[in-house]
Amino acid sequence: MSTVAVPATLQDAIRYFADLDHCTEILAASRWPDGVRCPMCGNPKLTFIKARRIWQCNAGHRDRKQFSVKVGTIFEDSPLGLDKWFTAAWMVANCKNGVSSYEIHRAIGVTQKTAWFMDHRIRLAMQSGTFEKVAVESLRQTNLLSGASPETCTRTKRPRSQARAGPEKRS
Ligand SMILES: [Zn+2]
Repeated sequence: MSTVAVPATLQDAIRYFADLDHCTEILAASRWPDGVRCPMCGNPKLTFIKARRIWQCNAGHRDRKQFSVKVGTIFEDSPLGLDKWFTAAWMVANCKNGVSSYEIHRAIGVTQKTAWFMDHRIRLAMQSGTFEKVAVESLRQTNLLSGASPETCTRTKRPRSQARAGPEKRS
């Protein structure tokens, strides 16, 4: 897989993440840099079922021998595709002044409630630096999930000036 180039604008991001095969590759490469392994037994001998974008472990255990790239991540229990998740994550990461759930809702076509939930979950993942669910669970234990996030928007200064191309706010 080639180096992941970060999309510069929202339009680029939507196009970049539109391909679910591509999204699967990105997440797999990030989670298993040395090659995909079965989350149940660690076996690297897997069959990839391309049509369903899942792997099947060939080690012979009966339970959970098939898994997707979402297993064990904050995306696992969500019916939304990684195309929407990654675009939303791009928006959260690239917003200088904070992206609103309304903007996410407009950009990726989910309800505003869903957008709020995604925004919240993505920010927690960014605070912990990983999309793995374990990190979210440990955050939950420290009560970060029970109330408002300590920072409503992490205003990280980015060295590169990235054009913010979110949908324009209309008043
Ligand atoms: Zn296995």
